[in-house]
Amino acid sequence: MRINLLGANIDGLNMQDTVAKIASFINQGNRACQVITLNPEYLYRAQHEPELLQLVNRADLVTPDGAGIVWASRLLGTPVPERVTGIDLMLALMPVAARAGWRVFLLGAAPGVAAAAAANLQRQYPGLQVVGSRHGYFTPAEEAALLQQIKEARPHLLFVALGMPRQEQWIARHKDLLGVPVAIGVGGSLDVIAG
Ligand code: UDP
Repeated sequence: MRINLLGANIDGLNMQDTVAKIASFINQGNRACQVITLNPEYLYRAQHEPELLQLVNRADLVTPDGAGIVWASRLLGTPVPERVTGIDLMLALMPVAARAGWRVFLLGAAPGVAAAAAANLQRQYPGLQVVGSRHGYFTPAEEAALLQQIKEARPHLLFVALGMPRQEQWIARHKDLLGVPVAIGVGGSLDVIAG
């Protein structure tokens, strides 16, 4: 089920079905899918920035990230089942990734944070393959090498924490070149996981 809220198409899936949908993207593996966890701040900005709305409506999966989104969906008579935030989704994917052998790449946050988050995740989910991590303060001149690093690591899942909406724009711009089956913008999640 897909609902429309202020021009944005949002998938009405609960967490379990969201994880299953992402698994199907990875198992098909034939194209680069973008997942956006849509929060009210983004939706608000998108009212004035058509490019941001376009990004949402071109994404392969859009989750309701925020109580305000869930509330508004009920008010409109097209309720989504529950809130699916970036951090919750990321953590829900980890045990599945560990079991299925999905390779994970973490991009973003201050120097040291992505690596610390990777170490914590690998401790918590034995067998999890984190095939790379890189901080999010790269210059335009460093970007080509970064893209190459991600490509060579061949992750199934790329988590991008550059802040919203930059991470969504960055994923949209580079996903086809990277050929990563699933890329998700996760905001401040790496900071949280790094502790
Ligand atoms: N960040 C980054 N590069 C930048 C700007 C921000 O890696 O050029 C990181 C920042 O360190 C933080 C994350 O992006 O880890 C943004 O977190 P925030 O909670 O502000 O995310 P939002 O909720 O705005 O998406």
